[in-house]
Order: sequence, then C-alpha cells, then structure tokens
Amino acid sequence: MSTIFARIIAKEIPAKIVYEDNDCLAFHDIAPQAPVHIILIPKLEIAQLSHATAKHQDLLGHLLLKVPQIAKSLNLSDYRLIINDGALAGQTVFHLHLHILGGRELSWPPG
Ligand code: 5GP
Repeated sequence: MSTIFARIIAKEIPAKIVYEDNDCLAFHDIAPQAPVHIILIPKLEIAQLSHATAKHQDLLGHLLLKVPQIAKSLNLSDYRLIINDGALAGQTVFHLHLHILGGRELSWPPG
C-alpha cells in the first residue's frame, strides 16, 4: 500500500527537496527534530529495512553513499543517521527512509 512518501515522489504533494536522482529523493522533514532534518527515501517502495533483500543491495548502497554528499551540500559536518525499522522502533511511515539529523549537538542514547 502506498504511503505519503509515494505521493511526494509523484509530486502530488509538495516537499522541500534537497536532492533527487533516478533512484532516490531527499527532502526536509515536515516536523524537524533538529535544525536540519532530512528524509532520504528510495523511489522504489520498500515498506521497511527488514523487508529489503539481496536484490536491493545496490540501491541500499546508493542511499548510504548519498548521505555524506547530501550532508555536505547542507554544510553539515556532523550528523546522525537513523532508520526506524518497525512500529515499536518509532516507524510511522511504511516506506523505507533514512533520517539525517544535524545542526545541533545530539545526545546519546536516543529515547
Ligand atoms: P518515521 O517515524 O516513520 O521513522 O519517520 C517518518 C517521518 O516522516 C517523520 O519524521 C515525519 O515528520 C515525516 N513526515 C510524515 N509525513 C510527512 C510529509 O507529508 N512531508 C514531510 N516532508 N515529512 C513527513
């Protein structure tokens, strides 16, 4: 079942896009948890990380390698990368996404 992120990919609803290519899209989170909070998604619909398989290996590598590039383009030298995999982990949108958080000192451990 499609999510709000599929509608953002289709440009049916607006988002502040910071990066896009054939395979992925990055945009500002609508409810930022840090001064910079980017959501990076594959255009392919994968509900959550644990649903990915070996056929997604190149795509997952592509996403990970885009993270430092996107961070640099936003002048983020230090940042945190988060994937919530499942509802108990805090996932609310079931289209795989990476959170890139930065722009302030981040505490550890997360809640
Ligand atoms: P999750 O909790 O699933 O790991 O993260 C989903 C994220 O998507 C949340 O941080 C939430 O604020 C963000 N989000 C949900 N709906 C929208 C939307 O319509 N636009 C944007 N830009 N972000 C959204």
